[in-house]
Amino acid sequence: MKKAVCLFFLCLLLSSCQAITLKKLGYTKEEISVISSLDKDGQALFTESYRDDLVALLDNPDFDNTKFNDYLSLIPQFTCADSIYIINNSLQDSCDLDKLAELFNHELFIRNKLEDYLHFINDFSVKDLLFMVNGNLLNYQNKDKLLAIMEDKYYINDNLALYLDYYDNFTKSRNLVEYVNTLRYLPDYSTDYITDTSKGNLMIVNKYYALPDGYVPDNLVSVPEEYGNPGMKLTEECFEAYKQMYNAALNDGMDLYINSSYRSYNTQVNTYNNFLTKDSQEVVDTYSARPSHSEHQTGLAIDILSPGYDFGTIYYADEVDWLAENAWKYGFILRYPDGKMDITGYKFEPWHYRYVGDLAEDIYNSGLTYDEYYAYYLK
Ligand SMILES: [Zn+2]
Repeated sequence: MKKAVCLFFLCLLLSSCQAITLKKLGYTKEEISVISSLDKDGQALFTESYRDDLVALLDNPDFDNTKFNDYLSLIPQFTCADSIYIINNSLQDSCDLDKLAELFNHELFIRNKLEDYLHFINDFSVKDLLFMVNGNLLNYQNKDKLLAIMEDKYYINDNLALYLDYYDNFTKSRNLVEYVNTLRYLPDYSTDYITDTSKGNLMIVNKYYALPDGYVPDNLVSVPEEYGNPGMKLTEECFEAYKQMYNAALNDGMDLYINSSYRSYNTQVNTYNNFLTKDSQEVVDTYSARPSHSEHQTGLAIDILSPGYDFGTIYYADEVDWLAENAWKYGFILRYPDGKMDITGYKFEPWHYRYVGDLAEDIYNSGLTYDEYYAYYLK
């Protein structure tokens, strides 16, 4: 009997000691009464250092005494309010907690869009989710559309809004991604983009990217007449590569000659204007580049024919097949392939080869036009 009474008083003493300690720590009477109702492990935490977090928990109107340990397990990965929201709504059962933390703590996170994020959180990355929900780009109707686009190997995150803009124009995601990546939604020659010539052999020149005013490659060499028409010039590196290709072709019984190579800005003005005397501009634009937009001005492009053939008949020459199969080994790519006019802006030109150097093999294997390859890998 004595023992029991002692124990009772001891307990009373301990709990009043605890209440005093809690009071000293700044807990209110109400908080202390909630703490006292917790089990020992729960109570023990309140004497330690994270008082502010715990007070925030206790003071939250949605605080549920029975879930206290679950809340605590999410702190400090989440704020108290978020911990309560997650546990009370059992989000931890349906979503990955790390992904939730990335979302809740992201600088672009908008709290009143939380329900929208949560509807789609398992379908998209947090980055995509924020971009789409914040921009009101995502809804139940287009979710599958979006997923199909994102699965495309050449999907570019920054182009997402544009993919959606043009989605209805295409039945295949592949074509849509091509179209947007290569700027084909813009009218030809409607941009004022200047190509980055510091990319050297890899610079892009097309109907959107022009060469800087008066651009002249600084390492042009004259091509001896045994290789083609008189007066031809190429960059030194391009010509060295061409010679190797020429000799390899010769070994295989092929006879190549250079019909056209470097063309200065002024030459291109004359070439283009000359075509305009024969065809409408709309037609000329399908086969000739406007000045500053010609690859020939880079010193890296060659029109390759074979003796006895011209631009109208070269399609039937064995040399065309040989080049298509082998040019990549020497750093050259077919720049305007058959059936790709909607991307390159030009009709099939089996004679026009562009020197890119070591990446030629990778570009060849990708099956992409250079416009696509550049947009995806090199921009
Ligand atoms: Zn050409």
